[in-house]
Amino acid sequence: MSQDGTGRRRRVSRAKLRERRLQAAAVVDVATSYDVVVVGGGASGLVAAICAGEKGANVLLLESSPECGRPILATGNGRCNFSNVGLAPKYYNDPAFVQAVFGDDPLGDILAFFRQCNMRWCLEEERLYPLSRRATSVRNVLLRRAASAGVTIACARSVVGASRTDGGFAITYREEFAGGAERAVQARSLVISTGGTQRTHDFDVAGSLGLESNPAQPVLCPVGCEPNPILELDGRRLHVRAQLTHTAFPVWSERGEVLLRNYGLSGIVVFNMSRQVVPGDLVELDLLPDLTKSELQQMVDPFAHGSFEEGCLDGVLDPDIASVLEGLARSRWTLEDAGRDKPASDSESLMALAKSYPLRATGTTGHEQAQVLRGGLRTNQFSTKTLECTSVPGLFATGEALDVDGECGGFNLSWAWKSGMVAGAAAVTR
Ligand SMILES: Cc1cc2nc3c(=O)[nH]c(=O)nc-3n(C[C@H](O)[C@H](O)[C@H](O)COP(=O)(O)OP(=O)(O)OC[C@H]3O[C@@H](n4cnc5c(N)ncnc54)[C@H](O)[C@@H]3O)c2cc1C
Repeated sequence: MSQDGTGRRRRVSRAKLRERRLQAAAVVDVATSYDVVVVGGGASGLVAAICAGEKGANVLLLESSPECGRPILATGNGRCNFSNVGLAPKYYNDPAFVQAVFGDDPLGDILAFFRQCNMRWCLEEERLYPLSRRATSVRNVLLRRAASAGVTIACARSVVGASRTDGGFAITYREEFAGGAERAVQARSLVISTGGTQRTHDFDVAGSLGLESNPAQPVLCPVGCEPNPILELDGRRLHVRAQLTHTAFPVWSERGEVLLRNYGLSGIVVFNMSRQVVPGDLVELDLLPDLTKSELQQMVDPFAHGSFEEGCLDGVLDPDIASVLEGLARSRWTLEDAGRDKPASDSESLMALAKSYPLRATGTTGHEQAQVLRGGLRTNQFSTKTLECTSVPGLFATGEALDVDGECGGFNLSWAWKSGMVAGAAAVTR
């Protein structure tokens, strides 16, 4: 957007916008020494920089993209599900670590932070969105607050290395505009806020600073499945109870909407499933979670004749899905190696498919489709009070750079905000 002569905002092409942002980034004056350098201007980096700046530190924020806060814009389908009223450590992969960092009232801390940014919010079920229901609101309030906290925001500068010095750190960055020069800056404290391990550009954080990290694994993403007749209805949405079984033990179950894709399953419920899935797991969908088995029997085969009438489930199930189930039931189809006996009759087969439709998972889909990357810096190297690295004083990490991930529903951004607050405030005292 830019303003015309009347003060109205008007649209500009993407390429022009990028060019303008690069020009604006190029004129930002970057000094050679700061109290705190934050690497990564996403969700947690912006909050860390604000908290350090508001405590009086001289802060530099280095971001490789031409603008800060870009990852926030894609969240919640452009609406930013920024937190959750049910925020609790149990929704994360490392609950003990998260609990210790969160403290007594993480939601209260997050809401107080955004209230102070002049942002207000609304609820959808347990999920919190900005009142505008626009992710740009969240990004913009953070940028404004960072500017008033005196943070030097230097975009289009990719950090390519960092090493320890007597007084702190020497950080090398590459300018992503004309010339592509490499420059160095000194800092007493260094905050790593680079997001999921695979998303950092040319900067091996762990390698540079001698830390240990866990390999990246995409989570909160669709789950691939072996070819299966129901997947031919690509794009169809179903309200189900999904269950995941690993070597005959049920490991996870959740109710909600599932999206059928020709390669597997997607949707919020499946994103949560992706945090647990292992290739070869059995996925079972209860396609009629609101019906008991006896209610279903009444609809399909009330007198237990063993057969059913065409269209008997059309009143309760998407008729196209019902028709696929009927075809499969008539051939007594079951998933190979699912450990199930062949159904004794057509009607038993139809009821079994409707209450427990089986698919075989092949694993999570690629990095591009993942909302979050599990993996990153091992949490046992960091203090839970400050998020400072115990073996490298002055080094802090936030957000997805650490090996912390949570369920869908605002939990990952909540971690980003709260970890940014903790590390940003502590980085000043170094
Ligand atoms: C499509 C999508 C939708 C999502 N929706 C939600 C949602 O609704 N609710 C929710 O809670 N979570 C959501 N998430 C997850 C959430 O966005 C992330 O967990 C969160 O943004 C992580 O914050 P972060 O600060 O760790 O990393 P990021 O926000 O990813 O920021 C990292 C920043 O570091 C920069 N960077 C990386 N390397 C360098 C370098 N070497 N030098 C300089 N800069 C560097 C990157 O360019 C980036 O700007 C979603 C994610 C995706 C992909």
